[in-house]
Amino acid sequence: MPAHPRPALIDTHGRTVRDLRISVTDRCNLRCTYCMPAEGMQWLPKSDLLTYEELTRFARIALECGVQGVRLTGGEPTVRADLPALVGMLNALAPDLDLSLTTNALKLTAMAPALRDAGLKRVNVSLDTLSRERFHLIARRDRLADVLAGIDAARLAGLAPIKINAVLMRGVNDDEVVDMARWARDEGHELRFIEWMPLDFAHTWDRSKLVPATEILERIGAVFALESEDTDDPSSPARTFRYADGAGRVGVIASVTRPFCGHCDRIRLTADGQIRTCLFSLKEYDFRAALRGGASDDGIEALLRAAVLRKEPGHLINSAGFVQPDRGMSAIGG
Ligand code: SAM
Ligand code: SF4
Repeated sequence: MPAHPRPALIDTHGRTVRDLRISVTDRCNLRCTYCMPAEGMQWLPKSDLLTYEELTRFARIALECGVQGVRLTGGEPTVRADLPALVGMLNALAPDLDLSLTTNALKLTAMAPALRDAGLKRVNVSLDTLSRERFHLIARRDRLADVLAGIDAARLAGLAPIKINAVLMRGVNDDEVVDMARWARDEGHELRFIEWMPLDFAHTWDRSKLVPATEILERIGAVFALESEDTDDPSSPARTFRYADGAGRVGVIASVTRPFCGHCDRIRLTADGQIRTCLFSLKEYDFRAALRGGASDDGIEALLRAAVLRKEPGHLINSAGFVQPDRGMSAIGG
């Protein structure tokens, strides 16, 4: 990518913002227990969602300030109408942009080729179990077969390597650690276990059900020899390990037990146009008002720079004064 024409976004802790997560919708076709309640979600009115033109304009200014990666997420990004059109608009900004998607894969069977043709480079798929009954319990929909078909469609479309994100909860699916690792090795996917975070709408998070990353690695390591990757990017939330026999990699995202905030290079744009400088921010910056109120590109840049300057040093999950944000993961953009 050519040198960016605007100064980099550097916060008061010396971290440079390089990664933008864009939530394109708060809606979803699943209701995962660790994310949403079974019923009663209040969706944002459609008029509050940033249009694809507004999203693309914001992304262009962020890229001009040195952002190098854009990840589309939600909610479930594929339920927003004509997602490939947005991918195409973002890809046109910079064809070498690291443009990726986090999805539950339900709609990938139909959409993967169009997403690839529009310029999508990679997908991360969320999958927490290989058991149909458990999938139904966790996601509250009987759709495991569709997820697996979606993953295959993504691979066929060339959206590889596919990363699989799994959230473990003790007593729910933690007994599948090794089975999932084996499945991902055999399929050639990189599996990453994410520690369950206090970000669900229903505030049901329970630390005693969190499965720490160290335990996950011990359990996999007891079956498959693992070697730590020396080349880890410090800003990457995942710590990755190679299988010693060469059969790929596995990772853990220890957001709670081993926070990586000191190297965080991310900001998030919610579907309704609010910038959050941390998943756990209690403050949001209203870019929808600026984008719709006639702000110039320089004005948007100045607002962004001011928000980044106030980026939190880190989350406080492990502190006595921790306050869970009102909005859950699906509204923030995971
Ligand atoms: N719907 C898409 C999906 O599920 O991949 C994208 C949005 S989802 C909010 C993004 C990621 O956040 C998923 O991998 C999901 O497992 C994860 N997630 C949701 N709630 C979480 C929580 N409370 N703790 C940890 N990860 C969570
Ligand atoms: Fe939907 Fe993703 Fe949340 Fe599951 S984790 S309810 S798929 S937004």
